[in-house]
Amino acid sequence: MSSERWDEAGWIEAASAAARRLAGHVAAAEAGRGPAAAQPPPGEVARRLGLRRWIAEGGMDAPAFAAFLDEYLACGTNVHHPGALAHQVAAPDVGAALADLLHGVLNNPMSIYEYGAAAATIEHVVVEWMLGLVGWDPATSGGVLTHGGSLATLTALLAARARQVPEAWDDGVPGGLAVLAPPTAHYAVARAVSMMGLGARALIPLEVDDVERIRPERVGAGIAAARAAGRRPIALVAPACATSTGRFEDLPAIADVCAAEGVWLHVDGAHGASLLLAPAHRHRLAGIERADSVIWDAHKLLRTSSLCAAVLVRRGEDLTGAFQQEASYVFYDEGGPGIDILDRQVECTKAPIGVKLFLNLAWRGEQGLGEYVAGRVEMARRIHDAIAARPGFEVPAPPESNILLFRREGADDARQVEIRERLLADGDFHISSAVVAGRRWLRLVVTAPASDVAAAERLLDRIEALP
Ligand SMILES: *Cc1c(COP(=O)(O)O)cnc(C)c1O
Repeated sequence: MSSERWDEAGWIEAASAAARRLAGHVAAAEAGRGPAAAQPPPGEVARRLGLRRWIAEGGMDAPAFAAFLDEYLACGTNVHHPGALAHQVAAPDVGAALADLLHGVLNNPMSIYEYGAAAATIEHVVVEWMLGLVGWDPATSGGVLTHGGSLATLTALLAARARQVPEAWDDGVPGGLAVLAPPTAHYAVARAVSMMGLGARALIPLEVDDVERIRPERVGAGIAAARAAGRRPIALVAPACATSTGRFEDLPAIADVCAAEGVWLHVDGAHGASLLLAPAHRHRLAGIERADSVIWDAHKLLRTSSLCAAVLVRRGEDLTGAFQQEASYVFYDEGGPGIDILDRQVECTKAPIGVKLFLNLAWRGEQGLGEYVAGRVEMARRIHDAIAARPGFEVPAPPESNILLFRREGADDARQVEIRERLLADGDFHISSAVVAGRRWLRLVVTAPASDVAAAERLLDRIEALP
């Protein structure tokens, strides 16, 4: 007899099979077995996974699920693999993986305290911890977790707009606002500027040096030029670090100019703020405490699954200011027992994403997580040195984060792209590429704990052997 209630024995069997298979998958991946990435064409994937048949007929049970899972695992990227060097996507740790399991069963959308007291309190405490690392007093600063850095960016720029143009919420956006950012700024910034109704031309590029870092001594002139052109800069975005180059900015010098000019400083720490946990590397973020807003992705260097990002503001009230809106059916109870965060975020229903970060911290401690971050940054440096030592390869200055660039020497930009594509078709190495200072570079993000110099040497051997 079929029941719509949970089949307890079937769930335990399927979940146990999944736990065993996933553990085996991670262990094999960390040992370098199997591909780093596989992307069969969608028709083949649909056939191998039986997608349309399952939809039409149903009837999946634990053994069928295990077989399905094997095919699923064979048709995707494997972020735990030493050759998984393409993107900033984390190799999730055990705590975060368990948090996703809990959420899948419990579904406590904790934006409203009464819907998840534990999850809401965990978010509160995790944000408080992040604020402290930035160097802010949690009593006066504020923050919230969001589904990703792009949403966090939008939220931060909304806060900047609300502080400087509060009437925009009711009256619409006046013409002539501007946001200044270097060309390395993540495209989430350009999107936010357009989504906020400022118009794409409101994003004004800052002058950069030959490694695409902001030239602080030219920021004042950039602001003056924007003003002379009739624009009113409401924010300046400083990546820390830049997605493409992995390089950090001179935040104290930039903060000096922003303070003198009265321009909101937004530090995009989506990738690099995690270096705050690593005592040997946190100097890269010196000056971050002078920002008005910061974003920070835990699903990059803090080893949670996608997504878990934070938007943090130096003055807590700036976050509520970003969303001046009446919604009395949920906001009525100001003296209630808990912490309601609907007035600080874009989302209404929100997953308990703080639990992922919390359980990672609970498993390894902040010191352990900091050692992971430092270890990956230091491994990127060792890989850089290994590439630099190989004839036939070109590297820029040593990396500052776990992102590094290199090129096949004597090959044009098109060949760099072709190298990446051939590697991806093989599947043993998944790498990315970026255009920096007008030239195409191959790009590695050293994230998986299994990625090491030996893997990088194999990558170079493979590139040398390409036809
Ligand atoms: C990844 C990244 C983003 C976007 O974050 P998502 O979580 O992918 O939306 C923004 N800024 C920087 C610097 C990034 O590296």
